[in-house]
Amino acid sequence: MFEKVLIANRGEIALRIHRACREMGIQTVAVHSTADADAMHVRLADESVCIGPPPARDSYLNIPAILSAAAITGADAIHPGVGFMSEKAQFAEMVEEHGFAFIGPTAEHIRMMGDKVVAKHTVQSLGLPVVPGSDGPMDSLDAAIAIARDIGYPVLVKAAAGGGGRGMKVARNPESLREAYQMARGEARAAFGNDQVYIEKFLQRPRHIEIQVLADAHGNAVHFGERDCSVQRRHQKVLEEAPSPALNDGQRHKIGMLAAETTAKLGYRGVGTMEFLFEDGNFYFIEMNTRLQVEHPVTEMITGIDLVREQIRVAAGAPLGYQQSDLQFDGHAIECRVNAEHPESFAPSPGRVQSYHAPGGLGVRVDSALYDGYIVPPHYDSLIAKMIVYGSSRNECLMRLRRALDEFVIGGIETTLPLHQRLVAEVDFINGDYDIHWLEHLLAGSESR
Ligand code: ADP
Repeated sequence: MFEKVLIANRGEIALRIHRACREMGIQTVAVHSTADADAMHVRLADESVCIGPPPARDSYLNIPAILSAAAITGADAIHPGVGFMSEKAQFAEMVEEHGFAFIGPTAEHIRMMGDKVVAKHTVQSLGLPVVPGSDGPMDSLDAAIAIARDIGYPVLVKAAAGGGGRGMKVARNPESLREAYQMARGEARAAFGNDQVYIEKFLQRPRHIEIQVLADAHGNAVHFGERDCSVQRRHQKVLEEAPSPALNDGQRHKIGMLAAETTAKLGYRGVGTMEFLFEDGNFYFIEMNTRLQVEHPVTEMITGIDLVREQIRVAAGAPLGYQQSDLQFDGHAIECRVNAEHPESFAPSPGRVQSYHAPGGLGVRVDSALYDGYIVPPHYDSLIAKMIVYGSSRNECLMRLRRALDEFVIGGIETTLPLHQRLVAEVDFINGDYDIHWLEHLLAGSESR
């Protein structure tokens, strides 16, 4: 097992990884920008190294600085967390070339899944259903128009290198496809330095259902069930739950086993997530994330498995040591992502936290790096806390969730806590009756009122 892990990240996810390491008796090294000198991940780690000024490109994305920090501190492995370097194949390669273990899949798998066109093609050839659309990247508008005619409008133009909902545009007819094609390419070029786009049928009322998978380096793969991440704004997840209120046991078992089998066939190692859209009883693969997900805690709550510990174990070469039939699913969990944003305008709200009280009690978990007096810097992602609530049934989970949201105090800055309070009181949400467009409709309705 590793003796010292460098955590190449910040905020709540850096803390999450530190906690797993600490429980495993592994020393931790934090890296930080000058803006994060007082951050909780720096305070809790055994050692810390400043790797640059506030902008992420000069610090958390600065490969030479991260590798030097690992060398100076004698770390034997690097955990990339989520975001930042976590899906950069070149980083994984360089980490290994410099003699450290990368806590994640091989560079080859990251690269394959990072190109969504290649990813779709690969999993389709292994037996997974995919969203109807173009077979490869579109090299001209005419080709895009021809495909759209085949599959029927509306269509979605998506960036091959996409992520975070960027480079994605809906078109409802050939005229709007012209515009969507140009806009998606421009956005993709700016965001990813790669303007390849592809086309998919735009599904009207699907749910986003994703399967958590894990594989060791010895060919064993399991799944940990699904997460329903349909509550989204601008294609970004806002709240996630496990299990999904929309699946029956047969559907759950079928898609879980398919995802695990595909993971094994890919020769994949590490944790990963296969994302699907689910409509009218059918699943359609959209992408695979080759890293830990922000919403992994809901899976941990219903399986009792520490996914970060498992991730570290398999990166160190340990076999899983259990099979699918050993895994049990129990109860219900919901995660609310709390962002430092205005709950209605969604304008970023960095600044000093004037008062802080995290909820507690049975079944309540808060993953956050906040503390009283902490200054939320303006340079990074606005996620400041995740509140994860567990109940033996969905109903109990909802009762606890409402109570815990009422207890949560984050003063001095605007947060999305009021948005969560509002949406968990909605009848559709209480009934589990929502799709990926539900939240946008709810928000649009309140604007026009
Ligand atoms: P990203 O990598 O940018 O997050 P994804 O492919 O994972 O992009 O899609 C993000 C979200 O966009 C999905 O969860 C879903 O809400 C929406 N979406 C993606 N593909 C489609 C589609 N074909 N039809 C309708 N919505 C889609």
